[in-house]
Amino acid sequence: MWNLKLPSKIRIGMWKITNEFMPTLHNLRKKRLVVDDLCPMCKVEKESVAHLVWDCAFTRMVLQELGVALWFNQNRAYHEGLKDTVQEVVSFIDAYR
Ligand SMILES: [Zn+2]
Repeated sequence: MWNLKLPSKIRIGMWKITNEFMPTLHNLRKKRLVVDDLCPMCKVEKESVAHLVWDCAFTRMVLQELGVALWFNQNRAYHEGLKDTVQEVVSFIDAYR
């Protein structure tokens, strides 16, 4: 992973995720810093890294919305030669709510 040509911020983030070094509620509970480790977004499972990345229904909904916006932006750039700014993509996502 350290040999990948990615910004160091991304590599460190990936290391933290794969080594359970993120301040999730489950990790904070292990250190007795919080009492409740239930995911505050879906309230179904404990908030662990695996839950946030793979299992959380709320995370899946957010990623799905982002995917629609990015796909729409990519199609406009390809077919119409129009390229939205980041702000325009964010506005598109906000309008979806
Ligand atoms: Zn959740």
